[in-house]
Amino acid sequence: MSNHYDVIVIGAGPAGYVAAIRCAQLGMKTACVEKWLNKGDKPALGGTCLNVGCIPSKALLEATEFYHSAVHGFEDLGITCSDIKLDVPKMISRKDKIVAELTGGIEGLFKANGIDWLVGTGTVLADKKVRVTALDDTPSNYSANNIIIATGSVPIDLPITPLESDVVVDSSGALEWQSVPGKLCVIGAGIIGLELGSVWRRLGSEVVLLEAMDSFLPMVDAQVAKDAMRTFGKQGLDIRLSTRVTGSSVNGDKVTVRYQDSDGDHEMLVDKLIVAVGRRAYVHGVLSDEAGVELDERGLIHVNDSCETNVPGIYAIGDVVRGPMLAHKGSEEGVMVAERISGETSSVNYDVMPNVIYTHPEVAWVGKTEEQLKADGVDYQAGTFPFAASGRAKAKGDVGGLVKILRDKKTDRMLGAHIIGPSASELLGQSVLAMEFDATIEDIAHTIHAHPTLSEAMHEAALSADGRAIHIANRKRR
Ligand code: FAD
Ligand code: AMP
Repeated sequence: MSNHYDVIVIGAGPAGYVAAIRCAQLGMKTACVEKWLNKGDKPALGGTCLNVGCIPSKALLEATEFYHSAVHGFEDLGITCSDIKLDVPKMISRKDKIVAELTGGIEGLFKANGIDWLVGTGTVLADKKVRVTALDDTPSNYSANNIIIATGSVPIDLPITPLESDVVVDSSGALEWQSVPGKLCVIGAGIIGLELGSVWRRLGSEVVLLEAMDSFLPMVDAQVAKDAMRTFGKQGLDIRLSTRVTGSSVNGDKVTVRYQDSDGDHEMLVDKLIVAVGRRAYVHGVLSDEAGVELDERGLIHVNDSCETNVPGIYAIGDVVRGPMLAHKGSEEGVMVAERISGETSSVNYDVMPNVIYTHPEVAWVGKTEEQLKADGVDYQAGTFPFAASGRAKAKGDVGGLVKILRDKKTDRMLGAHIIGPSASELLGQSVLAMEFDATIEDIAHTIHAHPTLSEAMHEAALSADGRAIHIANRKRR
């Protein structure tokens, strides 16, 4: 194996592995350095997303939703279940099997595309050289015309609540419990905290989420966030805002959590504690001083719009650079960088970035919120459609939530779509496509949506943004 490549990618999460595959597709000799070890200490591709993030969390969210429906939801449908048994270790091993299959799949794709996987830790040296320190500490040197850094992120740890065995855990630890905690505290009511809190709540845990901020999901459209807060509360997720955790201590198999709210200082005794206070860029060991790659004030690798760092030919993508920490954002940056290296014109449309919270109901959005449009002084009209008025949602027995479409009154273009409800993550796709194609509400109005489907709610909300929804009373007629 020659030690020189057209491109060396460091990190094989959804940003890095996608970049590597696209580079290889475009005819570049490509290597990808990855050091991840899975539970059995076996090297694995896929990064956070496949190993301890998107995929395992969704595997548990799906399984626990079925369990919850079987216990609480089927009776309304005329189905009485008895003797329902929960096998948590089996649920966890199903999740592990899905992870193994998907990470193995990336390995297969690397082979199929002729990408060399250099197992170990990559460090960028001067003059686009990369040192790879193998798992047994043996160093090897490589060189490349271009380097793509995709080293991702890791959970932020709170020194006041240090992780301890399986009792005080981060998001990765909360995917591994073999039994249901009686009482669970989650620090941080952000996306990860809500998803993991939901998993264990559905299985019967008493769940308290402590959130320092005074607003709930501030990045979400306020009407949707309010609906979500109310719905999650009804499910038994005890979300306490303006509540700052100040410390924790483990006593035997219990944890005492200390926190402050407007009434003063308090303590809570719980069985498990999840620290879900966000993620930080991971740059440990990847940049030598001689590489000369600059970080920004937040510790992220500084890049321009093309994801190029201050050193020509060295790029950075995914969670390690500015922008939302989302798998698909990193993947799109990977494609863009690969295409730019090969001389094509390529860009990422950050204005049309889908976001999803995979709770039940799901929350999904793209584009601007009403609050942002008001702040920007945009002349817009909102159209909403509740799932309670959707025939398909009624048939499914899942009628909570709504769709909101925001329309530019001047251009008739869609400025944002906000959904809380069944299959919101899948429904969002059509709004993302519409915005990417610059569709007008008129275009959407003319688009036929199958009946009876949940997607009719998207259609109706768009019509409602023009005062002409059919299945609800409109605020304004055309
Ligand atoms: P990562 O996936 O973090 O991959 C970076 C890789 O680089 C790792 O494999 C690491 O081992 C490797 N690496 C680091 N340094 C070196 C080095 N020096 N040498 C070699 N290798 C190195 N996002 C979504 O879009 N949807 C979701 O549903 C979702 N759910 C999530 C749920 C949880 C519980 C968590 C924790 C995250 C979730 N995310 C989700 C976020 C998503 O996982 C990240 O945004 C995504 O993984 C970032 O991709 P990345 O390739 O930039 O980095
Ligand atoms: P996210 O960044 O979406 O993963 O959310 C993490 C959340 O954790 C943020 O909303 C923070 O406000 C919250 N958070 C951070 N530190 C604390 C703390 N000490 N106590 C309670 N909440 C916190």
